[in-house]
Amino acid sequence: MHGPDFFEHGDLVGVLTAQPLDRMLDYKAPEGGCFRGAFVEVPLGPRKVLGVVWGPGQGDYDYSKVRGVIRVLDVAPMRDEMRMFLRRAADYTLTPMSAMLRLATRAPGLGDPQSMRKIYRLGTGEPERKTDARTRVLSVLRDYGGLAFTLKELAEAADVTSSVVKGLVKQGVVREEDSPRDLPFPKLDPELPSKVLTEDQERATTTMRAALQSGKYGTALLKGVTGSGKTEVYLEAVAEALRLGRQALVLLPEIALTAEFLNRVEVRFGARPAEWHSGATMTERRRIWRMVGQGEAPLVVGARSALFLPFRDLGLIIVDEEHDTSYKQEDGVLYNARDMAVLRAAMCSARVILASATPSLESWANADAGKYDRIELKSRFGVSVLPEMKAIDMRAEQMPSGTWISPSLRRAVEERRAKGEQSLLFINRRGYAPITLCRACGQQIACDHCDARMVEHRFLKRLMCHQCGETKPMPEECPSCGVEGKLAAVGPGIERLAEEAEAAFPDATIVTLSSDMFGSARALKAKIEEIAEGDADIVIGTQLVAKGHNFPNLTLVGVIDADLGLQGSDLRAAERTFQLMRQVAGRAGRAEKPGQALLQTFQPEHPVIRAILSGDEDGFWEAEARERRGAGVPPYGRMAGIILSGPDVAAVFDLGNVLARNDGPLRAIGAQVYGPAPAPIARVRGRHRVRMLIKAEKGAPLQEAISRWIAPLRLKGDLRLSVDIDPQSFY
Ligand code: ADP
Ligand code: ZN
Repeated sequence: MHGPDFFEHGDLVGVLTAQPLDRMLDYKAPEGGCFRGAFVEVPLGPRKVLGVVWGPGQGDYDYSKVRGVIRVLDVAPMRDEMRMFLRRAADYTLTPMSAMLRLATRAPGLGDPQSMRKIYRLGTGEPERKTDARTRVLSVLRDYGGLAFTLKELAEAADVTSSVVKGLVKQGVVREEDSPRDLPFPKLDPELPSKVLTEDQERATTTMRAALQSGKYGTALLKGVTGSGKTEVYLEAVAEALRLGRQALVLLPEIALTAEFLNRVEVRFGARPAEWHSGATMTERRRIWRMVGQGEAPLVVGARSALFLPFRDLGLIIVDEEHDTSYKQEDGVLYNARDMAVLRAAMCSARVILASATPSLESWANADAGKYDRIELKSRFGVSVLPEMKAIDMRAEQMPSGTWISPSLRRAVEERRAKGEQSLLFINRRGYAPITLCRACGQQIACDHCDARMVEHRFLKRLMCHQCGETKPMPEECPSCGVEGKLAAVGPGIERLAEEAEAAFPDATIVTLSSDMFGSARALKAKIEEIAEGDADIVIGTQLVAKGHNFPNLTLVGVIDADLGLQGSDLRAAERTFQLMRQVAGRAGRAEKPGQALLQTFQPEHPVIRAILSGDEDGFWEAEARERRGAGVPPYGRMAGIILSGPDVAAVFDLGNVLARNDGPLRAIGAQVYGPAPAPIARVRGRHRVRMLIKAEKGAPLQEAISRWIAPLRLKGDLRLSVDIDPQSFY
């Protein structure tokens, strides 16, 4: 970064816009000048677009033809650290800066003047004529001692029509004022009492406080089983950030499910934080964006994109459930919020806390190498202990075909019911059945646009493609051979499991929880709260229930298919299965009642299953680390995925072959290129997909080499190329 921080009227400035251009554009600074980082409106062709003054202009264009900045927007300029963060994140993910700016300005109407609304407070004097209604209005205003109301609030509180209030305004007894709609968020009070911490928790908190007080960047891995009090501990870190006058950001994976968390924040700090997620209204997003920039949102709780909010003084980032795969954005800009949180914190001297019961191998390795501090909570809070884990060897169970609840599991559920306790049956598969097979011709029904099977959703009475979301009504006859009445469901999904459970436990209250069964996040939240209050004997759930909810009366977890995640070739299959099984098992026995987890498996001798059962975590991670180190794959080597796609399969492969033949820049850094090969899902939404995989040593300058490699490409027609650095999924 160089050049001046302020540009006089007429100076050339380089402006970054969110338009897909590969360079900054020159403009003349407006009357009154502008600061570097200012958000501005500039003309682009016939349009006006949003941009940021990035620095001095290039000056490689006839000055007299350069157009002027239209105006500087009334929002806090982008801070140096934010510009640096966007630049570094762009370099890391090989994303154009314009796309990064789009991420950083995800709020509508940033350029609009602050919108105002009318508020009402106590004026002077007494009304000309005292009616009951008028007296009620005045007593409400007096009761609230000077607080302002909106018209609707005041009329409702006093139980009068709005014309009564308006009448009082005319007489000056009530005052009408304009007030900005984008109000600051309430202050949070770190001095409200916290819970009495256990010794373990106290030690963790002290370490974090000291780290925050240092005012320097650093990352800590906060590890502890579900229920050990990680949330309790990191709320104390938030308290310390607030005391230091700095802002805090808590990232959560399943933003739909934060009701419980928001309540805990309110109990601890006396007010609710700003909540940033895709479900927030436009007005709310704009309010948060502005207030965060003015330092008037002390705490933001949000989904991964909250990392790109313009914090004024961000001192702490919590990444809760840091191993969660939803932190990797798989659309548009391909970034991992966990890694970007670390980068962002390094730019603004903030601390990062990565919290998890089952950390990713990446974080485990960083802690092992001493790059991250390690903070561990050893025991569950209170008397509760981790559930006992046992396998049910499915080879030895007598089961009628088309059923998935083994006699052993069934007995265990019945025992819990007799004691008035809850059981959870877990299957990580949505829908009724993964395969719909025609018994006449043997064909499986597939998606017309993707290389994927259609999954029957009986609840919706449709077939659905889990790749592209395409649905169609369940046909009567086979789409291939036309024979009627021969379509059969093969394999279990959550809906089919629910059907089986209803038959097996006819007088039990059974609740099924799957993300696609609820119209809204709110409905789902309500359901989860009901269950927590004990309103079900048996809960049937997908991955959704594995995440952080407290079900105090739940003491048994039955995993229907513990082997499911081990299939397939994903390099993280073992890690994911290990994490998921431990998370799910952690749902059992959270309160005073001891829990049990039963894993139905056909391969109880599999090393991953054995590690899960024995609870030998360190043993598992060490074995997993050894294997990946040997193979030179992440986190001990670097990988990038290249996905090529287009409507014409030959053209896509041609492009891949051109790239493979011209791999000089990659060979120069010792990297290897694999492919082109059809992607595991070779067609999505009618586009053919071809993958290439690049492997390099840990220290290799991979991004630079890839940039040089793809720079000469000119993509013709509808061909697309995207680069996925540190790919998480290989579909
Ligand atoms: P984690 O985030 O590790 O799953 P939580 O912080 O959610 O654990 O703690 C689990 C439960 O135990 C919560 O209901 C929490 O309020 C409670 N808890 C944890 N520590 C304490 C404590 N020191 N005093 C009282 N309750 C606690
Ligand atoms: Zn499809």
